[in-house]
Amino acid sequence: MLNLGTDSELAIKKDQQYLWHNITPYSEANPPMIATSASGSWVTDINGDKFLDGMSGLWCVNVGYGRKELAEAAYNQLLTLPYFPLTQSHLPAIALAEKLNEWLGDDYVIFFSNSGSEANEAAFKMARQYQQQIGQHYRHKFIARYRGYHGSTLGSLSATGQAQRKFKYEPLAGGFLHVAPPDSYRRPAGMTVEEFNLQCAQTIEDTIVWEGVETMAAVIMEPVITGGGVIVPHQIYLDRVQEICTKHGVLLIIDEVICGFGRSGRNFGHHNYNVKPDIVTMAKGLTSAYLPLSATAVRKDIYEAFKDNSDDYGHFRHVNTFGGNPAACALALRNLEILEQENLVERADILGERIYSEFSELLDHKLVGDIRRFGLVIGIELVEDKVSKKPADLSIVKGIIAECKSKGLIIGKNGDTVAGFNNVLTFAPPLSSTDEDVQFIVDTFKSVLNGSW
Ligand code: PLP
Repeated sequence: MLNLGTDSELAIKKDQQYLWHNITPYSEANPPMIATSASGSWVTDINGDKFLDGMSGLWCVNVGYGRKELAEAAYNQLLTLPYFPLTQSHLPAIALAEKLNEWLGDDYVIFFSNSGSEANEAAFKMARQYQQQIGQHYRHKFIARYRGYHGSTLGSLSATGQAQRKFKYEPLAGGFLHVAPPDSYRRPAGMTVEEFNLQCAQTIEDTIVWEGVETMAAVIMEPVITGGGVIVPHQIYLDRVQEICTKHGVLLIIDEVICGFGRSGRNFGHHNYNVKPDIVTMAKGLTSAYLPLSATAVRKDIYEAFKDNSDDYGHFRHVNTFGGNPAACALALRNLEILEQENLVERADILGERIYSEFSELLDHKLVGDIRRFGLVIGIELVEDKVSKKPADLSIVKGIIAECKSKGLIIGKNGDTVAGFNNVLTFAPPLSSTDEDVQFIVDTFKSVLNGSW
């Protein structure tokens, strides 16, 4: 490794010279934070300053930083068997697939990849091929929601419903349609939350019918839109979506990339609702992001349709060289053990509720239009005016985030600059956060918002 030591100026210079960052534009005035170490919920940068990571990286370090056990699990596996392709098999993948069934509480077969995007790509191909296998040859289309995010690769980006991430890369993959999400905060006046959620679900059925039932392969959605602004549906919405999918022979793919592994206060986000997905995709919290790993869980009876090898094209013709790497699987198993042993799934709900109730007084603040929670995911929607609900200006949103950072707290925001929705502040700290960590989040954020804003 280059010995940059702790010379932050040199590191920043080299960073700007050689590294292309995700999303964040190049800015000399606002250089990136260069992290050097982390422990628990706290990250230390190259200057020795400490920050509470109120976003768990990118909603992913569920068990917190600095877990020696995870490093050891990967190290031991690397010494024993560092790699073997899953065109054949190995023990850590088998053990993890079994463990995931336990976590899912149902009968699924697991396909491993490396990222959330790839897990969704696999799901789309499985859904299309499944429909072919059962003789439904025209069923190739997908329905997703505006404001939802499903990844950065062409297929998963096609499913994404955020214009700002897409418009420079279009045309994307064909066959992806979008409907509005159940954003109850912005429901029409005079409509109850239940009526509005039913109406939103109905747009899915209407789209299926208008497009031609026999052309529809699957619906994909997060149980709760997280990165798109913490949009929490009413129970009735997902019940109805499930009914519609079943009625029309359309598969239901639930994207648990953020909501999975305790983030929602249950094992998986959809466990908070009555849905039984046909396919579940997962990544991030699966390894708490210590190593890349993702999974596409497919209901057993769907998998059975892939066993027809009569023309040698029955099986799933999809290879992922690194997917299910033995060290990543061994680490994931240990990660799940930590979540279980430390009751972190339950803790997520307790911490989420604590932050949410501490924040509830902020509803009186002139900028706060709505506060929403799903487990340990909290969204605060900032508005210019509480009656019109016009989203607060991006400069305000960014200013609050920067001020929190200057006081040692990292928080996030949703984004769709093109559609004008970039006004939801997000909080998703590690599930292992201590009571003091949570108090720091609450106190710091309140002091910022009640200070100069
Ligand atoms: N799905 C959801 C809901 C996500 O939030 C993300 C990433 O943030 C993805 C999929 C894509 O995951 P990855 O960045 O690992 O490809």
